[in-house]
Amino acid sequence: MKIGFIGLGNMGAPMAANLVKAGHEVTGFDVAGVTVEGVVKAMTAAEAATGKDAVITMLPNGEILRRVYDEIVPAGLAGAAFIDCSTVDVDSARAVAEQAAAAGLLPVDAPVSGGVGGAAAGTLTFMAGGSEEAFAKAQPLFEVMGQKAVHCGASGNGQAAKICNNMILGVTMIATCEAFALADKLGLDRQAMFDVVSTSSGYSWSMNAYCPAPGIGPQSPADNGYKPGFAATLMLKDLRLSQQAAVSAGAQTPMGARAAEIYERFVEIDEDARDFSAILPWLSEGAG
Ligand code: NAD
Repeated sequence: MKIGFIGLGNMGAPMAANLVKAGHEVTGFDVAGVTVEGVVKAMTAAEAATGKDAVITMLPNGEILRRVYDEIVPAGLAGAAFIDCSTVDVDSARAVAEQAAAAGLLPVDAPVSGGVGGAAAGTLTFMAGGSEEAFAKAQPLFEVMGQKAVHCGASGNGQAAKICNNMILGVTMIATCEAFALADKLGLDRQAMFDVVSTSSGYSWSMNAYCPAPGIGPQSPADNGYKPGFAATLMLKDLRLSQQAAVSAGAQTPMGARAAEIYERFVEIDEDARDFSAILPWLSEGAG
């Protein structure tokens, strides 16, 4: 396929590189002038999108996405898949999808989980929103860049799935860290606590797969000085998006709101830009 790729940052660059490796012809654009081996460099976003079978965007936020879509939609080839893999607010995802569909394009919002490691290894999970036809057109590219793609329904539903998932993640990570901090004060050994909780009803991905206590459970950023991993700033971004969506949709999310407040405070004081699991040392130091 001929592919345009816009936004060649930490995630976009390795995703574009994997498309090249799979034999696709990729033209890329990034405002920062980034180049990726094997990717033809375009001078504008519109140039990258012109005449392509698929156009992928991997951008920082909804405002930038809307600006980029104003440039690339008029350049799109009728029937091209316009796949946005950025994490953005649901309203922006639906607005750009409507704009693209009105121009005869096939929009898909397809945020990812798996982080920079998953982008490099081609093992991302895509959560997709859009028509059956658009999803089918994007599917071969999801197979190159990832290991799983779930079609979540109409446009915006990919973003909805992503922020609901990450709201659960933020809340369970805080609860897991609180439980360790409490266990410490109660004289309960962290390993014993892990052994019980990881096989009892308190288990979760935060405890079992990404344990925030160093030296306990599987390898995680806690074992590496809380170097991200998944930075607390990115968790805060996603929690803010879920709160924005909750307000917009009139949903009650009191724990999500509290998690957003806690990460806001943490990010403000955390000079080392640590992983989102560093809530544990923060609480242990009594700072939380
Ligand atoms: P990044 O900041 O490394 O990359 C974004 C890129 O977009 C930058 O290179 C920037 O120069 C470029 N850009 C900004 N405005 C542009 C414009 N108008 N036209 C063209 N390029 C422009 O960010 P990232 O870590 O690659 O994340 C990208 C998206 O993926 C975000 O929405 C993020 O929330 C999401 N995401 C990131 C991770 C992660 O672990 N990093 C995981 C899942 C999802």
